[in-house]
Amino acid sequence: MLFDAHCHLDFDSFDADREAVFERAHAVGVSRFMVPGATRRRWKNVLALNERDDVVASLGLHPYFIDEHVDSDLELLAEEIGRHRDLVGIGECGIDARFEATLERQWALFEAQLQLAKQHRLPVIVHCVHADDQVAKRLKQLDLPARGLIHAFGGSPQQAKRFLDLGYMLGLGGAVTYDRAKRLHRAVQSIPDDGFVLESDSPDMPLSGRQGQRNEPAYLVHTLDRVAALRGQARDSVAASASINTQRLFGL
Ligand SMILES: [Zn+2]
Repeated sequence: MLFDAHCHLDFDSFDADREAVFERAHAVGVSRFMVPGATRRRWKNVLALNERDDVVASLGLHPYFIDEHVDSDLELLAEEIGRHRDLVGIGECGIDARFEATLERQWALFEAQLQLAKQHRLPVIVHCVHADDQVAKRLKQLDLPARGLIHAFGGSPQQAKRFLDLGYMLGLGGAVTYDRAKRLHRAVQSIPDDGFVLESDSPDMPLSGRQGQRNEPAYLVHTLDRVAALRGQARDSVAASASINTQRLFGL
């Protein structure tokens, strides 16, 4: 059994064939899915998917879509979190330092969601691009009760260790399938068995050889293969560790 710990199956790019995407995943053993909300407009689709037995979900305001968010979204987010007790986290939220012009507003939104996670004792699903050091510093100061996931981790062994020492789980995705990702490969080899989950980040983060194509959860088996090879471990034992870690992370 494989658990895709982060996949945006609510996105429009799956509207035409969403059921087939689920079926193809189940056919190769990817049988559970964590769907994080990214914008207020999409939350209702996330909540609809959350009705499925094979899906768990969270709601949040993603920094990539900063221009879509308005301040009242935060109040609505707090309401929805209070109303839907089966949500397993807060996010996707975080910092994307590629978009320098909006960083101040990104931090304000991220901070508010971190406080919400603290208040509800829910794990945070953190998007962190070119901001590992600053985000780690803030997470350390806040000492959130339920910690969370550093999604699509792409850093060094040192950065991995810092997040692990703070109690956070690292999300490994399609980036590990690229031969050139030597630093990330070293990090993957350094993570203890209880420190990582596997995630597709569908429809994003295409695997090596599939650049420019839509990603989907069925391809998680190739990420699993690469992680197992890098770690010198059996495929089944890596799959088992990742699934157990995902369940522990989200309190399942
Ligand atoms: Zn994502």
